[in-house]
Amino acid sequence: MEIVTLENELLRQKAEPVKDINSDIQKTVEEMIEALHEGKGVGLAGPQVGLMKRIFVIHIEGDVPRVFINPSIIGTSQETVKFEEGCLSIPGIWADVVRPRAVQVQAWNEKGRRFNMEADGILARIILHEYDHLEGVLFIDRLSVPKRNRVLAKIEKRQKA
Ligand SMILES: [Zn+2]
Repeated sequence: MEIVTLENELLRQKAEPVKDINSDIQKTVEEMIEALHEGKGVGLAGPQVGLMKRIFVIHIEGDVPRVFINPSIIGTSQETVKFEEGCLSIPGIWADVVRPRAVQVQAWNEKGRRFNMEADGILARIILHEYDHLEGVLFIDRLSVPKRNRVLAKIEKRQKA
């Protein structure tokens, strides 16, 4: 699996629900976890590998890899926090993003089992970041306009170099 970057318009499209969690999906999930490890990231969503399906995987240090298929965000905390984010699809760019501190999510795992999860801290942040990918939204979209323009200028400069 190849991780696609910012100029790829697949990152701007909405992913489709998974209809059947079968052995093909299980294989896809395994490959996504491999790609996540290879990229040394903490989260990876389908569109980032050109797969327009509502799947993302998360693996943070000290935890097991977590699989989210057809996730829905049930609720978010009113309280927000600002924290630095990066993205495997926007290499080398880091910026502070404001997001809810906690999230409640429902999804299916690769075994087809539905689960509910309440997360806060770094896990909540990654869930929200990856969920955005399924909607065609990138973390740079959540920056203030001047900040986003600075980031885009930086990316453009790098592409020219
Ligand atoms: Zn990302």
